Amino acid sequence: MRFKKALLEGICEACRNVHPSEFLAMLGVKEDLEFVEELVVVPAEFGKSFSAYRLDLQPLDSKIVGTVHSHPSANALPSRADLRVFSRGKVNLIVGFPYVLNSIRAFDSSGKEFALEIVE
Ligand SMILES: [Zn+2]
Repeated sequence: MRFKKALLEGICEACRNVHPSEFLAMLGVKEDLEFVEELVVVPAEFGKSFSAYRLDLQPLDSKIVGTVHSHPSANALPSRADLRVFSRGKVNLIVGFPYVLNSIRAFDSSGKEFALEIVE
């Protein structure tokens, strides 16, 4: 799974904009199913706890492959509630403060961290 650099930079900017609230959105792919290049903003209220966010209430879209959300603290490790949400997505990103590329961590559906492969 590869990630578009401009997308990740946009996510970091969005996280900074809503800080100290949590940013959350979904990640999407287009033709290349292994290339995450789309951000699908969901109709959720910023600032609500991510754990209250229900993936099953979102419209089904086969192009959605996972989630991204921010942690206003520097701790970018998934909470127990995060892990439950992660189980329904293939790739899940947590962006920790200060919201730069180096503070993004990637997890699979089982909560196992994997190295983020960033391409231009
Ligand atoms: Zn979280």
